[in-house]
Amino acid sequence: MSNADHALPGAPGSAAHEPDLHIVTPLLRSTSYSQRLGRSVWFKMEALQPPGSFKARGIGHACRVHKARGAKHFVCSSGGNAGIAVAYSGRLLGVPVTVVVPESTSAAARERIRMEGAELIVHGRTWSEANDHALSLMQQDYAFIHPFDDPLLWEGHATMIDEVAATGVKPGAVVLSVGGGGLLCGVLAGLHRNGWGDVPVIAAETVGADSYAASLAAGAPVELPAVTSIATSLGAKRPCDKAVEWSTRHPIVSQVVSDKAAVSACLRFLAEHRIVVEPACGAALAALEQRPAAVMAATDVLVIVCGGAGATAEQLQAWGCEG
Ligand SMILES: *Cc1c(COP(=O)(O)O)cnc(C)c1O
Repeated sequence: MSNADHALPGAPGSAAHEPDLHIVTPLLRSTSYSQRLGRSVWFKMEALQPPGSFKARGIGHACRVHKARGAKHFVCSSGGNAGIAVAYSGRLLGVPVTVVVPESTSAAARERIRMEGAELIVHGRTWSEANDHALSLMQQDYAFIHPFDDPLLWEGHATMIDEVAATGVKPGAVVLSVGGGGLLCGVLAGLHRNGWGDVPVIAAETVGADSYAASLAAGAPVELPAVTSIATSLGAKRPCDKAVEWSTRHPIVSQVVSDKAAVSACLRFLAEHRIVVEPACGAALAALEQRPAAVMAATDVLVIVCGGAGATAEQLQAWGCEG
C-alpha cells in the first residue's frame, strides 16, 4: 500500500507539511482527587500543550484558517497565554507575529513570547490600551487573533471534548475556568456535537475576576469596573456575549472561589500531580474541591486543567504564604 492510500482528504497531516499546532492531551483519572471526592475525577491535561495552556487549540485553529485565507501576519494583544499561543502557532506556520502586551505583563511571559520568535511591543497600562494599539497596527493581509471572542477559537477548543468522547468516558459534570468565556464556549460546542447537551458545566472564577457570575445573575453581559484577582488570565472585565447566551440553553452553574483557595488548589495539584498551573486554573480545581451539587451528583467528573505558563512553583508558594 502506498502512503496515498492512507491519506484521507482533510485528515490531520494530509495537507503538505502542515504542522500540528496542539497535541492530544492525556485524560488522567486522579487517584487522590477521586478518593477525596468519592467519585471518579478525570483531568484533561491541557497544561501539557506545548505553549502551556489549552489556548494552543483554538488559537492554533484560528491561525491555520487565517493563513489558508491568505494572512501574512498575525497580531494579538495579550499579556499572557494567548500571546504565547499565537507566537507559537506563527512560528510553526511560518507567519510573522506581533504581540502587544501591557506594562503589567511579567518578564517571564515577555521572554516566552520573544523565545517563540514574535515581535513584542509593550504598550499601555491595561489590556485595553494594549489592545487599542494592536488594532492600530492592522494592515491589509494581517489577521487579528482575539484571545477569547471568536467562533474559530471555540471550534478549536471543542476538540478537547472530542478527545474525551473518543476514550469512552462520559462525564456527569464538567468543571472549568472562565475568563472571557472562550474555553467555556468551546467546551459547550464540544459537548453538544458529541450529544452531551445534558452534562452540567461548573463555571469557576475567582473573586475580583467574576464577571461571568455577575453576568449570569444579571442575565446579560456585565462589565466589572476593575479586575482585582491575582488570577490575571481570568481578568476579562466582561465575558463574551456567546458565553452568556449559552446559559439560556445549557445547565451552567457559577462557582466563585477566593484567590487563596485557587492558590491552595494549585499547590495541592503540584504536590499530588507534580505540575505547575496558574491560579486561573486553580480556580477550577478549587471549585471542584468545594463540592458543588452538580459535582456531587456525578459519578464521573471531568476537570479541564487549562494550565497557564504565567506561574512558577516559587510564586505559588509565595502567594500561599501571603494568605
Ligand atoms: C485564557 C485562560 C483562561 C480563561 O479562558 P477564557 O477563554 O478567556 O475564558 C483560563 N486559564 C488559563 C490558563 C488561560 O490561559
